[in-house]
Amino acid sequence: MMAYLKLKNITKMFGNQVTLNDISLDVNKGEFIALLGPSGCGKTTLLRILAGLETPTEGDVIIDNKVMTRAEPSGRNISMVFQSYALFPHLSVTENILFGLKARKLPKQEQQARLRDALKKVSLEPYKDKLPGQLSGGQRQRVALARAIVSHHPICLMDEPLSNLDAKLRAEMRSEIRALQQQLGLTVIYVTHDQVEAMSMADRIVLLNKGQIEQVGEPATLYQQPQTTFAAQFIGSPAMNIFQLQGDDVLTGVRPEHVMLKDSGLPGRVKKTDYHGDSTLVFVEIENNQTVCLKIDDFKSFAKDEPVFIQWRVEDSFEFDPVSFKRRNQPKPLNIATN
Ligand code: ATP
Repeated sequence: MMAYLKLKNITKMFGNQVTLNDISLDVNKGEFIALLGPSGCGKTTLLRILAGLETPTEGDVIIDNKVMTRAEPSGRNISMVFQSYALFPHLSVTENILFGLKARKLPKQEQQARLRDALKKVSLEPYKDKLPGQLSGGQRQRVALARAIVSHHPICLMDEPLSNLDAKLRAEMRSEIRALQQQLGLTVIYVTHDQVEAMSMADRIVLLNKGQIEQVGEPATLYQQPQTTFAAQFIGSPAMNIFQLQGDDVLTGVRPEHVMLKDSGLPGRVKKTDYHGDSTLVFVEIENNQTVCLKIDDFKSFAKDEPVFIQWRVEDSFEFDPVSFKRRNQPKPLNIATN
């Protein structure tokens, strides 16, 4: 199958600075892709290149078999939902939603039909005459989504659309956006620095680091088969422990949820605990001033510097090269629940 959206060897320079380095990616129709990475890794720049707000220094953007690298944003069949909701404060919800369609001079009847449909999909019917200032953050976000829905554009670009919302609303909107995307068959490219958002929403995650693709894969693949220490520590919270044991020529990686307290094993001393309600994080100092974090069920307390022993199962650990930071041992088979 030919990819619906294709990035071919995209490089972007700002002056001498390489912001994006040889990015290639195939996106299928109806796929939800999360562009994930730390601040400054180039996520927004890549999204802007897709939108046509920025031109790559090298490489091409291909949409539905057409080279669009230099096409105007309006000619790309793309809708955008950005961080700041970009609503007009003096226009009502209805007028905000219809703004793009009016500019496209769509017949009035068609506009009204699409409006009714979109208001229903995002549950904003009772608010259609309100101004953005009279709405909550989540409602404003839904107005922005409704605007993308009425456009009937099959590709939707989102840049940190939930970052202004509180934690509870963010979790709700995550599932709402995902449900809408599937219902409408939208192809979504979603920029976020929040790995939980990427893990819970995306079909595939594109992990970016310093302008390069670090790893691309399904959320479970990134969690269970990270190919570099960067991927291993960016996905999962708290981050994977990575340490070097005396006499080893490899770095060992093991997730906090896979380290256990035992009667024997690697010795260490408890330096700190963080109580999280359903679990406790225990920070244990091991040889050479390295710290290993354990995530254990329920509440446990420790004396300061209490000596303990830790263990993990070999099959739960990873080996990384101490020079290249790439994964050394063979990938384990994926463990995905089937029902
Ligand atoms: P954040 O999550 O903080 O928004 P990001 O991953 O989206 O980060 P970008 O906004 O794409 O990162 O920026 C990547 C790099 O490119 C940064 O170092 C930034 O300073 C630089 N950059 C972006 N736009 C321009 C520009 N117009 N001129 C010069 N440098 C730029």
